[in-house]
Amino acid sequence: MSINSTRSKRYARLENILIIGNGGRENSLAWAIQKNDLVKKVFLVPGNAGTERINKCERIKIDLNNKIELVDKLDDLKISLIVIGPEIPLANGLADFLRKKGFKVFGPGKDGARLEYSKSWAKEFMLDADIPTAKFWKVNSLDEAKKIIYSESIPLVVKADGLASGKGVFIPNSKDECFRSAESIFNGKFGSSGNVVVLEEKIKGPEVSVFALCDGKKYTLLPTAQDHKRLNEKDKGPNTGGMGAYSPAPILTANYLDRIIKEIIEPTIDELNKKNIDYRGVIYFGLMITESGPKVIEYNCRFGDPECQTIMPLMDQNFVFLLEKCSMGNLTGDEKIKISDKVSGCVIATSKGYPHEYKTGFPIKIGKIELNDCQIFDSGTTLSKNGELLTDGGRVLSIVCQDKNFDMVFEKAYKNLKEINFDGIYFRNDIGHQVRKSFLKEN
Ligand code: AMP
Repeated sequence: MSINSTRSKRYARLENILIIGNGGRENSLAWAIQKNDLVKKVFLVPGNAGTERINKCERIKIDLNNKIELVDKLDDLKISLIVIGPEIPLANGLADFLRKKGFKVFGPGKDGARLEYSKSWAKEFMLDADIPTAKFWKVNSLDEAKKIIYSESIPLVVKADGLASGKGVFIPNSKDECFRSAESIFNGKFGSSGNVVVLEEKIKGPEVSVFALCDGKKYTLLPTAQDHKRLNEKDKGPNTGGMGAYSPAPILTANYLDRIIKEIIEPTIDELNKKNIDYRGVIYFGLMITESGPKVIEYNCRFGDPECQTIMPLMDQNFVFLLEKCSMGNLTGDEKIKISDKVSGCVIATSKGYPHEYKTGFPIKIGKIELNDCQIFDSGTTLSKNGELLTDGGRVLSIVCQDKNFDMVFEKAYKNLKEINFDGIYFRNDIGHQVRKSFLKEN
């Protein structure tokens, strides 16, 4: 597909930017983007109640499914760059549509988003490129799954093939539990996302996230991160969208990162090229550091949440140029972006009951918080008719801080959390436990 970006060229460079999405990730992207002097306005569709507390930001309503209205509105707003946050619009081909209309878009087309929206396709992709990953079986029926589950001697994990909001992975403790997980997926727990199931060898090791901004041919890496997916302290309890994160991940030494680049990142980009996929966006590599080396657990076609909130404060005002260059296919590798030498951490405050059922609509009280190198990005909030801030999601707020070391980062973050309250507020006290020296000493 040829990309001419003609429409975006009509509008002043980077003056008006549009971000699609409504979470902490999109608010943190908006916050990082608005730092640049060229940027006059950042519109979020639909954004959330936190959006308008961010300098230059405004929420707007557009029906993304009404394509004529969408293009008209983008022209009215003179949008020169569009950043698509979540995976669903990417999987539905929104980036392809907008590019065809001549807009500059950060976010892969439907073909590239397949890395995330089909786990079996991603596994076959890795097999083609000889990228290290857990052994797998793609299965189309419960009978097929049953045969593998009861004949294989290694422990397995079970995954719905399609998008399932981070809930489609089961880590069973027995063969029967494994069978029941596969059964629940084939019985429609995730709708058509579960028409195909991936059974995977269970592997062990710490997990890290690596982000590559890609312009179709070249890439540049952002700081690494580690997140905490489990609901409860000591990394126990059900998987969630993410309860907190820290960046960079000290477990990845420069040498080890080089190994990951050679064995995983470059082969991924080469394979995308081989398959004629012009990937213009971020590739998220979810990796496990096993005894036999790094292995890919999953690819995402967008920034991770809460890793994005954690990393964005480390970017300087030139970050937006990276997004723009990726959208235009012209990364040079010598972009003048300065990445802070501080470290960053994020703790997520959730509604009681998350990731299962929870109630929303509770008033959020924010007292006197430390603002120096600290941010609060709203993840799921809304405003009442009287303008009161209310909870409006499972994950409600992202509390983010930066400092010289992780002890100082999390001391500030937890101090700020003491000033925040809403009915049923829950957060983990041990985010970043691996990198907090004081925490390790006390526990
Ligand atoms: P995913 O949605 O694919 O990232 O999986 C969610 C979580 O499940 C990961 O962060 C891992 O903790 C775990 N997981 C996924 N695949 C495997 C695997 N093959 N072996 C062990 N744990 C896994």
